[in-house]
Amino acid sequence: MPELPEVEVVRRGLSEHAVGREIGKVEVLHPRSVRRHVPGPADFAGRLSGQTPTAVRRRGKYMWLVLDSGDMLLVHLGMSGQMLVQPEDRPDEKHLRVRLPLADGNELRFVDQRTFGHLMVDREGERAEVPSSVDHIALDPLDGAFVPEEFVRALRAKRTEVKRALLDQSLISGVGNIYADEALWRARLHWARPTRGLSNAQALELLGHVTDVMTEALEVGGTTFDGLYVNVNGESGYFERGLNAYGRRDRPCGRCGTSIVREAFMNRSSFSCPSCQRAPRGRT
Ligand SMILES: [Zn+2]
Repeated sequence: MPELPEVEVVRRGLSEHAVGREIGKVEVLHPRSVRRHVPGPADFAGRLSGQTPTAVRRRGKYMWLVLDSGDMLLVHLGMSGQMLVQPEDRPDEKHLRVRLPLADGNELRFVDQRTFGHLMVDREGERAEVPSSVDHIALDPLDGAFVPEEFVRALRAKRTEVKRALLDQSLISGVGNIYADEALWRARLHWARPTRGLSNAQALELLGHVTDVMTEALEVGGTTFDGLYVNVNGESGYFERGLNAYGRRDRPCGRCGTSIVREAFMNRSSFSCPSCQRAPRGRT
């Protein structure tokens, strides 16, 4: 599943290859990929044709192209979505869902095998900064406007477990399961620690680790991007190296050698070191 660093890599690619190119006749090949665009696929296509992207922005895992009319094309990659920039004569991908021809002879292609991702056009009459459908999502820690002290205050005011708080998009966005586990390992905090029990210093340190882990992943993801091929396939380069906890069940902790454990967490998994990341009292 693409996480923030992968989405940011795609955002940068689209900034380079889509901004300033007028969009031609849009084709929706699978209606499910525009299901959130309530007026339907024909309206979606008609709304985009003739518009020119002027910027590509992102908040958390949501990304949008700002169009010259003030409309915004929202892109959510879901589990398996890809945004590709391909020459128009390149054969269609098997799971091509939406085709957006660009004035320079390339096409923006939304490819999505599992169709959990989606595109929609958000009409913002007031030239808003952020599409209304993204407005409720908190800033992510790589955003220049993110204020660490505000996050720490909000985190410590929550009655929840620390990992749940990291995944809470109204508190902080863009932190997925992998980055949460990695940051908690670095901070030596168990995922079930109550947020109210964290000191200011612990919360700030944890946030620092979250930012570091995502920045490192972004650097790795950024190197796999080349030429016209704008790609995210959900398998970040970060999977290949540098993971200390996530996916490392029964393998030795890089700090103390204890075997990493996997526990069920919100229909997913949490990986942690039982020695370095002591479970809170009351948990076995
Ligand atoms: Zn350990």
